[in-house]
Amino acid sequence: MYDYLIVGAGLAGSVLAERLASQLNAKILLVEKRNHIAGNIFDYTDENGILVHKYGPHAFHTNSLKVSKYLSNFTGWRFYEHRVLVNQHGKEYPFPVNINTLNMLYDLDLKNESEMQSYLDSVRIKKDVILNSEDLVLNNVGSDIYQKFYKYYTLKQWKLPPEKLSPSVCGRIPVRFNFDDRYFTDNFQYIPDNGYTKMVQNMLNHKNIQIAVNTDYLNVIDSVKFNKIIFTGPLDLYFNYIHGKLPYRSLVFKYEYHDVEYYQKVAQVNYCSIPPDFTRVVEFKHLTGQKAPGTTIAKEFPVSEGDPFYPIPNEENNRVFNLYKKEALKIKNLYFCGRLADYKYYNMDQVVARALKLFEKIAGRI
Ligand code: FAD
Ligand code: UDP
Repeated sequence: MYDYLIVGAGLAGSVLAERLASQLNAKILLVEKRNHIAGNIFDYTDENGILVHKYGPHAFHTNSLKVSKYLSNFTGWRFYEHRVLVNQHGKEYPFPVNINTLNMLYDLDLKNESEMQSYLDSVRIKKDVILNSEDLVLNNVGSDIYQKFYKYYTLKQWKLPPEKLSPSVCGRIPVRFNFDDRYFTDNFQYIPDNGYTKMVQNMLNHKNIQIAVNTDYLNVIDSVKFNKIIFTGPLDLYFNYIHGKLPYRSLVFKYEYHDVEYYQKVAQVNYCSIPPDFTRVVEFKHLTGQKAPGTTIAKEFPVSEGDPFYPIPNEENNRVFNLYKKEALKIKNLYFCGRLADYKYYNMDQVVARALKLFEKIAGRI
């Protein structure tokens, strides 16, 4: 008899399993349909001895002291600030857009915030109301940068033009009025020093947590006894798609090993035109700091079918999600948590914060 059946051994399910076991002495069965723990942050050493992220590049960043302190119980850290270049027909530009990007693109000599502001004021297309990602980008940087950096990358990634996506999607990328070319500016930017999988293993290393990988919860739900369920898989799946399917975007990763020390200058190079069909090329050694004579890269090809990686934030999908959420609220002893179950474009730190909060609620502490 378990106190909790937790579905999904990603970050959300693992944080909850750890907290409930270590703080409330609860007995947990954690089921995961994949053949490994850690969900989308899973990393492993490939056949060439290179530590790779199986589901895309994962750069941890947060401003939450609570989250970084919590995870520090399970891992040491390696300082890492993510940097991204955009490759436009062979030329590389720093991204997010900053003063250097504009200087390189237009052969300018902008020197400070006010010069950049004046330049952008001369090209931006002012919108009184920002209804979608296209409005947001045009309003910030105007049409040329929109075409060169955002429109086609977004079309590839989402199979939707930016005007069909909520402003929050392209709004993830700031515009910098200085020379800062880091992808994130959070206070805490570190990668687990022995990898993400090891961190999750340490979280789950508790006598009260039993883990079953290769196990779809549908195959055990009638045979195991438990009091409560925490579900971190897709919400529409839980309700057998009664309100229709919530769409997700997926990716195909094509790995290549190269006999050179480094393949590219930074961990991530984005390709913002069509062709190519891929959106970005990721080189893992930059993220992990591993030293080796060769290197592994992955090209990311967005697709509609496959593992559900990205909820698609727009009005229609939010409407359907709310129908499911109403169903969820009707059921006692059932909790939903995580990027798939909340249908939210969460970063890792947001998932940890969400799971810690749910734990406090379950424990009656808030
Ligand atoms: P998941 O990791 O998806 O875990 C859910 C688990 O539930 C999965 O393992 C799944 O197999 C399992 N499951 C589903 N259905 C069932 C079932 N029926 N039975 C049993 N198990 C089931 N965040 C950052 O902060 N920085 C980054 O750089 C970053 N890069 C990313 C790059 C990519 C390509 C992607 C896709 C995401 C990235 N993220 C990044 C986001 C990060 O991966 C997520 O926020 C986090 O991993 C979500 O954790 P989760 O537990 O909610 O979901
Ligand atoms: N984006 C873009 N061009 C880029 C990078 C991002 O148009 O070079 C847009 C695109 O819609 C993308 C969104 O901004 O999906 C969020 O980008 P982010 O890098 O945060 O995506 P993630 O790492 O989550 O895949």
